[in-house]
Amino acid sequence: MTLKTLAIQIAADFQKHYGRAPRWIVAAPGRVNVIGEHTDYNDGFVLPMAIERYAIMAADAAATPGQVSIYDTHFKESATVDVSAPVTKGQPKWSNYIRGVLAGFQNRGMKIPALDVAFMSTVPLGGGLSSSAALEVCTATLLEAATGKAIDPIEKALIAQKAEHDFAGVPCGIMDQFISALGREGHLLLLDCRTRKTELVPMSDPAVALLVINTNVKHELSGGEYAERRAQCEEAAKNLGVKSLRDVTPDQLEQGKAKLSEVVYRRARHVIGEIERTTHAAEGIRASNWPSVGNLMYASHTSLRDDYEVSCAELDAVVEIAEDIGYQGGVYGCRMTGGGFGGCCVALVKADCVDAITKKIAADYKAKTGFEATIFSSRPAAGATILQQ
Ligand code: ADP
Ligand code: MG
Repeated sequence: MTLKTLAIQIAADFQKHYGRAPRWIVAAPGRVNVIGEHTDYNDGFVLPMAIERYAIMAADAAATPGQVSIYDTHFKESATVDVSAPVTKGQPKWSNYIRGVLAGFQNRGMKIPALDVAFMSTVPLGGGLSSSAALEVCTATLLEAATGKAIDPIEKALIAQKAEHDFAGVPCGIMDQFISALGREGHLLLLDCRTRKTELVPMSDPAVALLVINTNVKHELSGGEYAERRAQCEEAAKNLGVKSLRDVTPDQLEQGKAKLSEVVYRRARHVIGEIERTTHAAEGIRASNWPSVGNLMYASHTSLRDDYEVSCAELDAVVEIAEDIGYQGGVYGCRMTGGGFGGCCVALVKADCVDAITKKIAADYKAKTGFEATIFSSRPAAGATILQQ
């Protein structure tokens, strides 16, 4: 669904629910990380792209003072938030992403206006494409529209991140909210997680597209894997005498190899290699050197699978199928994206091969794993936008 179609849809939903037309319509996209996995908490680089999947809200000033009502078209239920006092956590669960952003604006000294809101999203929930950040950034954008006061997009992203930390209890990095707030159509975002410096990387060649392949598998782990990887990275940095792995070159890692256990060495090798691959991929994209970018994506996957050990059979199956289709069939590269153990792969493909590749991956993935994949292509989308002011 295009953003225009979505806007018509949410306006109709608002009209049906509240009996009048909305005044404001705003949207914020989900994202896929093209390369730079498990680098964020090591002060490294990430290279996400906003996808043509959005959280979208229609709203109008409400009659009841001190109250924000949100009707969610996904769960078909409403949340009512008292904004006359400091906003707190509450029910339903999904409303906490919104509550957190309302609280963040209150902390900046803003009085939240009374609002009626209708909300929908085409970002799949819990699929690793950051429906949560899209919801947070969409809420922040609505507050900008409703108060007529734009805020710095970086500050907006940080308010959204804090909402996810404090109100959803997810200690996420800055990538998801940054790309949703700062993305630009036809561009990827190279983000330095140490300095928070961002650089838009143009990717406007109509001959290529990105495919998102959701394995629709999420392996339940003991829960300690993420914390364990983080601890191993910290151990590597400490033993190598640096603040974070960002400060280590591949040569320095080899020189310091004796100071690390075998496993910790491999974890560090992934992170250090991945940081380098990410900046190289940004250069490759700028030069429209698609074979080079594709190879970096394959190398990223191999490293995540073997050194960082966060892949799984289903993600590996998708990458193997993509490799089999190969350059001749229009695939430049493919890798798992997101934290791992399930979720999505991202592939760089020739635009005119999208349909054939989609069919082939869907059929072969089903045959190999027994699961149905969900596949869609996206061009780099715009970040948060006010569609109707
Ligand atoms: P991801 O961000 O990868 O999609 P998360 O677990 O971080 O996964 O966020 C998913 C949660 O965000 C959902 O469980 C829900 O609470 C909230 N959410 C996102 N989109 C919607 C929506 N359209 N309606 C209601 N809640 C939503
Ligand atoms: Mg999320």
